[in-house]
Amino acid sequence: MLKSFRAHLNEPLPVAVAHGAPRVIPRAEHPVSRSDISPNALRVLYRLKEAGFQAFLVGGCVRDLIIGRHPKDFDVATDALPDEVRRLFRNCRLVGRRFRLAHVVYGRDVIEVATFRAASAPPPSEDPVPAREEDEAELLAAEADDDELDDESDDDADDADDADDAADSAAEDARGNALNSAAANAGAASVHRVQDDHGRLLRDNVYGTIDEDVWRRDFTVNALYYNIADFSIWDYVDGLADIHAKRLRLIGDVETRYREDPVRMLRAARFEAKLGFSLDAEGSAPIPQLRQLLAGVPPARLFDETAKLFLGGHGVESFRVLRARGLFGVLFPAAEQYLLQHPGSLVEALLVQGLRNTDSRVAEDKPVTPTFLFALLLYGPIAAAIETLPQQRWHEPQAILEACDRALRDAQQRVSIPRRIALGVREMYALQSRLEGQRGRRSLRLLEQPRFRAAFDLLALRAAIGLAPAEIAQWWNTLQAVSPEEREQMVAAMPQGTAGNAGGGESTGTPRRRRRRRSRSGGG
Ligand code: ATP
Ligand code: MG
Repeated sequence: MLKSFRAHLNEPLPVAVAHGAPRVIPRAEHPVSRSDISPNALRVLYRLKEAGFQAFLVGGCVRDLIIGRHPKDFDVATDALPDEVRRLFRNCRLVGRRFRLAHVVYGRDVIEVATFRAASAPPPSEDPVPAREEDEAELLAAEADDDELDDESDDDADDADDADDAADSAAEDARGNALNSAAANAGAASVHRVQDDHGRLLRDNVYGTIDEDVWRRDFTVNALYYNIADFSIWDYVDGLADIHAKRLRLIGDVETRYREDPVRMLRAARFEAKLGFSLDAEGSAPIPQLRQLLAGVPPARLFDETAKLFLGGHGVESFRVLRARGLFGVLFPAAEQYLLQHPGSLVEALLVQGLRNTDSRVAEDKPVTPTFLFALLLYGPIAAAIETLPQQRWHEPQAILEACDRALRDAQQRVSIPRRIALGVREMYALQSRLEGQRGRRSLRLLEQPRFRAAFDLLALRAAIGLAPAEIAQWWNTLQAVSPEEREQMVAAMPQGTAGNAGGGESTGTPRRRRRRRSRSGGG
């Protein structure tokens, strides 16, 4: 369906708009069709419109519809305040610490509805900055209130009436801000907006109009608004021209915008990788001076960004762009250091091949896991940690685990790795030596291990690169494919101690079977 609109992309574009007023592109002159918008998003837009509010699709979904891609999610922007949105939808909950957003929930499909905002700041879901105590109290109160209205919620909303009052008065305050004059609003802004020493926005609570909302968005291509009232697109920033030119241009003063939110540097890299767009010279220039500011971003947020960069189907390209922009080393200093010290290494080949496999899985709609991703990203640091030990210890399971723990601990300084994932990475590495060594009956039990599949994938990848014996990976591959009877035969037929350790040809300290263990397990 989307393909039929591609024809529009080649048409020449009328250009610049007067600063402050949008260029309104009527339906007949753009390719965004309601048939490509999710029915739930349309439902939300129409309900808001029927209640007398403005309602627009905004951000990546409009951008993606224009270039003929299927949007990952649909975001709605409106002049309705969060509490007003909540009253319109029973299936709605308010979320966000720093800034309230409404989520309208249709099963697994969540439509995010954001009230126009006056200041520049990322959505709170993007930046889990701790809330002030009073924000927290308001949030808890509103959530209790929300539960009461929510059909599917537990019925534990004590004090819901008080909560409703609190939420209402907060909404009234906010409405007051939104409707105030610009000068008064600027005064409110100084109270509600907080920056750190580097200019990073920590809190931002000022509602605004669409004219103001547009300036807080990151890139011009992400700042187009699709108006449900007449199906036109509003373009304040020449975003449409930039989409057609495949150009990423930041809105406003580039350095200020990066300082406010250093993650915008990563978002730029992600959009370059994902969309094949190019960050313009102005946006590229300050990155070398400013990239270290990413060290001040909460590690949990950097984990989210890492997942978006590498698990979204464009991991190989993300890796290339991040390295070219000097951003990979800010996220994963030890991995970057390894790559720099071992140019053209097998570890680099493994990382790229692993990302390529992940991209293929995404393209085929197969599940991908952050555990496998972090196992790839930490391969170099784990190898480096092992290499600090005397060579005779390099293949000891205990040494591998200790190296793994060290690499995980180091990496956590920048990018938080949830415990579940860290444990998974550890198990994957612990299983490498067992997979290479265990060839007797116990092999069958290894197959039942919850992490077997992930560990086998890593083994197969290592084998493909030359970091593990190919025949062992092949043996496990066959073992999984055959019937239980054939498995028994394979295990019985396995001559003792044939598991050769081909080695990697590189002293990367890659996990390998401990020799003593091989002869023991071979007899088991
Ligand atoms: P994706 O295709 O990955 O969903 P997206 O552009 O929709 O890309 P989201 O993270 O979903 O990105 O954010 C939606 C919109 O919110 C963006 O298009 C942009 O307008 C705005 N936005 C998100 N993060 C930021 C940020 N850090 N700074 C400024 N604006 C942001
Ligand atoms: Mg989006």
